[in-house]
Amino acid sequence: MNTLRGMCLCGAVEYRVEDAFSAAFYCHCSKCRRTTGSAFKPMASIPSGKLALSRGEDTLLVFGDPNETHDIHCRFCGSFLYSIIDNGNTHVALGSLVDAPSARPSFHMFVGSKAPWYDITDDLPQYDEFPT
Ligand SMILES: [Zn+2]
Ligand SMILES: [Zn+2]
Repeated sequence: MNTLRGMCLCGAVEYRVEDAFSAAFYCHCSKCRRTTGSAFKPMASIPSGKLALSRGEDTLLVFGDPNETHDIHCRFCGSFLYSIIDNGNTHVALGSLVDAPSARPSFHMFVGSKAPWYDITDDLPQYDEFPT
């Protein structure tokens, strides 16, 4: 299995993840917009056991309850790296990858609450909330 590298802006935190994402997508919800400071969050889902930190385990900033869904950032530069979901999956913020994943985002979700200043210009399926 091919392994992808990911890292934060300052380089203090690095991780490796198998190139075996089960889904990749864009979320336009207000939480994802605030977390990333962007119009939407491109992310991909994988079972949490397939991602491992290779550097910086002691320099993480954890946002949220560690026993539930929570976000992992670098404590120094603030980069958002991935979310650990309480269903056993991890959602990798695709912008934190160094290597290109095989998967490509295949739909937009929470389009019902997307930023009014951003227009989606591709032909991918759009869902008002979660995909149906
Ligand atoms: Zn950093
Ligand atoms: Zn979202």
